[in-house]
Amino acid sequence: MENIVLTSIANQFGSPVYVYDAEKMEHQYKRLTQAFQNVPQLRINYAVKALSNVNILSYMHSLGAGLDTVSIQEVELGLYAGVPAHMIIFTPNGVSLEEIEEAAALGVQINIDNLSLLEQFGSKHPDVPVCIRINPHVMAGGNANISVGHIDSKFGISIHQLPHIVRIVENTDMRINGIHMHTGSDILDIDVFLHAAEILFTTAKSFYDLEFLDFGSGFKVPYHPNDIETNIEELGQKLGERFQSFCKDYGKELTLAFEPGKFLVSEAGYFLTQVNVVKQTTSTVFAQVNSGFNHLIRPMLYGSQHHIENISNPDGRERFYSVVGYICETDTFANNRRINEISEGDLLCFHNAGAYCFSMSSNYNSRFRPAEIFWHQGEAKLIRKAEQFDDLLHNQVVLDLAAVKV
Ligand SMILES: *Cc1c(COP(=O)(O)O)cnc(C)c1O
Repeated sequence: MENIVLTSIANQFGSPVYVYDAEKMEHQYKRLTQAFQNVPQLRINYAVKALSNVNILSYMHSLGAGLDTVSIQEVELGLYAGVPAHMIIFTPNGVSLEEIEEAAALGVQINIDNLSLLEQFGSKHPDVPVCIRINPHVMAGGNANISVGHIDSKFGISIHQLPHIVRIVENTDMRINGIHMHTGSDILDIDVFLHAAEILFTTAKSFYDLEFLDFGSGFKVPYHPNDIETNIEELGQKLGERFQSFCKDYGKELTLAFEPGKFLVSEAGYFLTQVNVVKQTTSTVFAQVNSGFNHLIRPMLYGSQHHIENISNPDGRERFYSVVGYICETDTFANNRRINEISEGDLLCFHNAGAYCFSMSSNYNSRFRPAEIFWHQGEAKLIRKAEQFDDLLHNQVVLDLAAVKV
């Protein structure tokens, strides 16, 4: 998006503010479907947890996407947004049997990732088709916090337990209609991903009534200039071909499913903040913005590098800054970063603010969560109001404690 548009949005709606570019989301969606055009039945289920505003969910659905959900609340948001139940998959981890039953009653596709619930659910509801999430024990990406397929991961049923899965399925006579894996974020090596896919294919052969294979997500997107990204086109070519040959072996045309979050929305998001203070210390220059990890926690949580631009002074000479927030904790967004010269009042734009930014925000320090703006067909549309004081008190039960005073 152009600086002039972002600046006018900040002027109109105030800052901090999140802005999402619809066109970029559409571009990413089309890029992915294009990459897998050699697969006749492709399904993209957008991972709701990346950015869960209901307008984003409706928009994704309008592009043709279903939804990937990890809580019953996300299922309900998806249904509220108008996505039909049969286009929603429920892929939770560590939830109760009751929550899975609730989702099944709403008609969404169930995905189970542990033997205990598989046995319980299969015994009670043998007629409800279930997908199984396996753990192929393949390590994707370098960050253990966002890699979920390795040996110590809590996600999925180990492929070494396949005989036990098969026994449960036979004993309960339940129906398995899908096999799923999600090896985590930041796939860089396509061969590693293809290796995990082979494990999924091998596993799939133990089930006779499948309708789809779900390869999860974890596509890496560039976070700063010159950053690397998953080569989706190459992956589409190679995996698509291999998938087709698997279907031939299997004797049935299956659906190939993905559930990307980051890939679809990360680069579509911009987070605009204003510089409150420029503070020189003996060792650095701090630019302190009107935000903190209450609004954008990824740099502190994962060490993520969000590219930051001074859109008020795009041609100014570059200097080194530490960009920090106003929270009473260490909340460093960027250390020693080269940014066009910053003055107090300037607008700093954080890139890649679409995925896992607003959806991880909080009211810490009793700050309001910011507004969200959808930039669609040349118009800035408010899709979430900035919070106000009432929102901080919402659900607080105010006791009359004055009477206790002596
Ligand atoms: C978070 C998650 C995704 C999305 O991952 P991205 O890295 O955002 O693409 C997909 N599937 C499951 C099961 C997830 O938990």
